[in-house]
Amino acid sequence: MTLRHLVLILGDQLDARSAAFDGFDEKQDAVAMMELWQEATYVPQHKRRLAYFFAAMRHFAEAQRAKGRHVVYSDLDDPENRGDFVQELQRRVAALKPERIILVEPGDWRVKRNLLAAGLPIDMRADRHFLCSREDFAAFAQEHPAMVLETFYRGMRRRLDVLMDADGEPAGGAWNFDTKNREAFGKRGRPLVPAPPRFAPDAITRRALQLVEWHFPGHPGRLDDFALPVTRRQALASLRDFVTQRLPDFGRYQDAMQGGEPLLFHSGLSGPLNLHLLSPRETVDAALASTAPLNAVEGFVRQVIGWREFVHGLYWHAMPAYAQLNALEADLPMPRFYWTGETSMRCLAEAIGHTIDHAYAHHIERLMVLGLFAMLLGVNPYEVHRWHMSMFWDSIDWVSLPNTLGMSQYGDGGVIGTKPYAASGRYIDRMSDHCRHCRYRPDQALGEEACPFTTLYWDFLARHRPRLAANQRMRHQYANLARKPAAELSRIRRQADRLKAEMTADTFLPPA
Ligand code: SF4
Repeated sequence: MTLRHLVLILGDQLDARSAAFDGFDEKQDAVAMMELWQEATYVPQHKRRLAYFFAAMRHFAEAQRAKGRHVVYSDLDDPENRGDFVQELQRRVAALKPERIILVEPGDWRVKRNLLAAGLPIDMRADRHFLCSREDFAAFAQEHPAMVLETFYRGMRRRLDVLMDADGEPAGGAWNFDTKNREAFGKRGRPLVPAPPRFAPDAITRRALQLVEWHFPGHPGRLDDFALPVTRRQALASLRDFVTQRLPDFGRYQDAMQGGEPLLFHSGLSGPLNLHLLSPRETVDAALASTAPLNAVEGFVRQVIGWREFVHGLYWHAMPAYAQLNALEADLPMPRFYWTGETSMRCLAEAIGHTIDHAYAHHIERLMVLGLFAMLLGVNPYEVHRWHMSMFWDSIDWVSLPNTLGMSQYGDGGVIGTKPYAASGRYIDRMSDHCRHCRYRPDQALGEEACPFTTLYWDFLARHRPRLAANQRMRHQYANLARKPAAELSRIRRQADRLKAEMTADTFLPPA
């Protein structure tokens, strides 16, 4: 038989309705999927991230076979597997001799570049998963060179007719309800949080877990309690569970943090969404059909059709130059404790502990603890992105790079956010229970008990005064800095220098 199309499905394209399958003919076409050493090792990876990809890919391959499709699957363990994207694809092409290779545009710029350079007969189709195509985002960027998220989000609401009244005004009379969405748990503690569903590993998943344990024994994390949604059916169950159980309180508590609680009222759907086991449209539709209050639904909808689509569009609009940006000229390495959690700072120990245990920490822990500290310290923003790619089960290059290098580190100098997310330990004290259990004091910038966030916060403002003092949105922060006596500020800066030297003297990478 002559093979017409070899349909290549990448690990983050597990969508049976993908454009790659348009016109698929079981009699003439075949599906190719590849587990690759290159992809498993280009950054050192958390065991759960590796296991999630392999388990989800293997289930997807089985689902294709169940439809009667011919699937050639490159197992990581197969001695014939070349391990490299292009070489493994070339091996398959040499054996199967397809007329064309069909795939949907990859989500990682590096993968797309490598495939296009391979000299193979490849047809790349647009990715229908996203609600804003790369071309539509480019048109938006041309029309709105400042690329303000709020403008983009309102445009998406109108275009998709989501939370819009018949008269063209936003539902509820406002585009957002953030004044209702900033509650901490306070002294009363958190309310009961319904636990997300757990999915016991079946035989396919167990084989994927064994594969990871065997080949990546020294990597961060553990797999003994692996229960992630690795199939479409499980992803849909997770979506139903979120909109009924946690979405109602998601809005008011979306910025809150609590020790021992990596998820709280967040959805945990970023993994299934980023592997395309769920579509953004069905995810938003489920939230819209729920009985959750408008402030919660709008906050969630904004994350999916606003923020997620925006960072995807920005990534493809700005790459490859975007990855090189380092507006604050931050050049320190990641401290060792980001890989181990061994730090006396309670908030960081908690957030890194969640990351090591679950390959997950919720959005505010990532932004306002993990990312904030790295930015205040002055860690190279691309290194923060690499660490984020390593440690989270939901990370894909297009989503991680704008969120870490751009949003959390201000490495892009204001493309994605109009000001750095700079805050002292007082913010963490207000939004969490961490400081009550910490040896440091969030209101102190000097001395033995000084909170390192607070010391580094004042140092950060002083260090970047020439660049940031004119930013209107930082007016209050710089007015407070101006009130600090010069002698006190210079003592704070000397203490900050000692912290930076101590914390970055000890760095390491887990094995790749
Ligand atoms: Fe974190 Fe500082 Fe609070 Fe300790 S005192 S938990 S280091 S913010």
